[in-house]
Amino acid sequence: MLRVRFHGRGGQGAKVASRVLGTAAFLEGYYAQDFPLYGAERRGAPIAAFTRISKEPVLERGIITEPDIVIVMDETLLDDPLANPLSGVEEGSVVFINSTHSVPEAKARHKISATVITLDLTKIGLEKLGRAVLSTLAGGVAAKLAGINEDSLRKAVEKETSEIVTDRNIVEKNIEAAVYCFNSVEPHPHHFDAVRPELVEGLNGSQYRPAPLPEGEGKKITVITVPFEPANISAPSVNSAANTPMRKTGNMRIFRPVWDYEKCTKCMTCVARCPDGCITVNKDGFPYTDYDNCKGCMICAEECPADAITAEREVHAW
Ligand code: SF4
Ligand code: SF4
Repeated sequence: MLRVRFHGRGGQGAKVASRVLGTAAFLEGYYAQDFPLYGAERRGAPIAAFTRISKEPVLERGIITEPDIVIVMDETLLDDPLANPLSGVEEGSVVFINSTHSVPEAKARHKISATVITLDLTKIGLEKLGRAVLSTLAGGVAAKLAGINEDSLRKAVEKETSEIVTDRNIVEKNIEAAVYCFNSVEPHPHHFDAVRPELVEGLNGSQYRPAPLPEGEGKKITVITVPFEPANISAPSVNSAANTPMRKTGNMRIFRPVWDYEKCTKCMTCVARCPDGCITVNKDGFPYTDYDNCKGCMICAEECPADAITAEREVHAW
């Protein structure tokens, strides 16, 4: 079984990335399981998602504590003790980081002995999709690391994006972006070397029927008691220190809002719309934000009627 764990921030697409991988694996004839884990939905908050892929039925449940592959969609999560994306990572694991840093820099900074791969997914997202939504891009990377074929990835991206958007052009762009990322990384040494042709045959939607287990195999399945797993991988806890004013959510930021006071009409829409209450008014009556806590959701820029707020990318998280 191959266990893949995705870490991202709410809105980046970690959940869909895990689905893209699961669907691609399924279309290729594997058994697959994918699911997300997050608390109250909040853009910018750490979330995790999981995909298990196996040639046999997946009987394992719960969060993946010992991943073969970790996909870190936001490098600031590496410094977040609650997200803890490196937990359970061992020497044989592969850690992919969406980063502008080189592999030696990332390994040294985070003391990672496992294989590390870095790629600037955010830049690719901005260039190919016009947005830093990384779901299909991360799905493409994960598919390559897992040893899934490009054709299965294309079909999976088409299926998953078609369920979210109706614009065919966006679907095509996502397929192109996913394949671009797929071709930008090398496969993981643990990838599966064979598919189950009996499962691939007849994979046309409703015609699909799982192949029956070999006779007697069902009797070998034993019921196990799954040990309690503390929800310390990206699960927000209302009472934890990280949810108090002591937690500076500015480290969630990929984009920084910058105000142009020449254009600002002091309408205060941005002040009212900031979901985190970060924007206050200076002595001249102009809005400004508290960058220690601004999480970079850019709602203020989207809502500003005067186009007075622009998004500047924070290229380096560290
Ligand atoms: S919404 Fe735009 S115009 Fe209105 S106060 Fe904010 S920056 Fe100024
Ligand atoms: S200041 Fe703007 S970018 Fe920052 S949290 Fe508020 S709305 Fe989001």
